[in-house]
Amino acid sequence: MENKKEMRTWLDDMNLDHPLVIAGPCSAETEEQVLRIAHELKDTDVNYYRAGIWKPRTRPGNFEGVGALGLKWLQKVKAETGMKTCTEVANAAHVKLALEYDVDLLWIGARSTVSPFIMQEIADALQGTDKIVLVKNPVNPDLSLWLGGIERLYSAGIKNLGAIHRGFSTYEKSKYRNIPEWQLAIEFQNRFPDLPLINDPSHITGNRDMILEVSQTALDLNFDGLMIETHFDPENAWSDAAQQVTPSSLVQIMKDLKIRKESDPEAEYNSELNNLRAQIDVVDNQIIDLLGKRMKVADGIGLLKKEKNVAVLQNKRWNEILGKMVLEGNERGLSEEFILKMFKAIHQESIVHQEKIINN
Ligand code: PEP
Ligand code: MN
Repeated sequence: MENKKEMRTWLDDMNLDHPLVIAGPCSAETEEQVLRIAHELKDTDVNYYRAGIWKPRTRPGNFEGVGALGLKWLQKVKAETGMKTCTEVANAAHVKLALEYDVDLLWIGARSTVSPFIMQEIADALQGTDKIVLVKNPVNPDLSLWLGGIERLYSAGIKNLGAIHRGFSTYEKSKYRNIPEWQLAIEFQNRFPDLPLINDPSHITGNRDMILEVSQTALDLNFDGLMIETHFDPENAWSDAAQQVTPSSLVQIMKDLKIRKESDPEAEYNSELNNLRAQIDVVDNQIIDLLGKRMKVADGIGLLKKEKNVAVLQNKRWNEILGKMVLEGNERGLSEEFILKMFKAIHQESIVHQEKIINN
């Protein structure tokens, strides 16, 4: 993967020749289920076995996890398969139990990262631990909350830190369960370049058919690893059934992913190029999205104009926009010629839209 790190971290110390893989069921359901999935994963590239035992649910009444009992099952996983284990902790009592049962890696869920009180409580309970602690992004797209959560843990002397990008909830309809907002993850990497960053395509997509595509984007954006929910019978899982994959699908996904090497100059060049192209794709999608939104607003104006029987073309307003945008563009190194061309094209499209509305 891209050579962005300067500090050695717990992840570098693992000396992996592939991205870190965390896999296992969304929830621990029964001892048999936990052990069966673990055995099916043990001879794969999976580095950490996950299973949620305390499950934060949006509405009460859904399966809320097996609780502390599941810690015994995770211990059995370690004893029987040699795999390291991880689970989500959401308060001081969880932390105490997870440490007692020697869970190797703890993660903090999206619903906890949003709350500075909870983050502080967890940080205090973890004080000085050498366990690996990963912080999922908060449910809402707020970079400061995410950074702040990490900082609280760092201040509590927790050195083996990392982050998980699991997407953000949105009011708008989307093909994702939680929209990735990749630019936020890129910004996160810029702020904490040495911190391992893991992608969670399961919670981003909510749909097993999209896991490969999102994982590939993450690797192209220099993520250090993936957390993928895995179950031998995904359809009948007690939580997140639509997004879990079988162990054999996971192995196939790992095979299909294009993982870039950093060894020779040619590969380094390609890796850099892929990274930049992935960033361009993210921005291009945002541009299209914004243009779509702009046209919807223009449609609204068209309706208003129709009601009041006002002409579509409003020259004064249009010249004001152009003048402002030329200045804004200038500040960003965009030529006047380009800004004029682009905004004329956008304006043209708005007029076509409004014409349609007024004459219908
Ligand atoms: C999970 O990993 O199962 C989970 C509950 O994730 P999140 O906090 O991202 O919703
Ligand atoms: Mn889940």
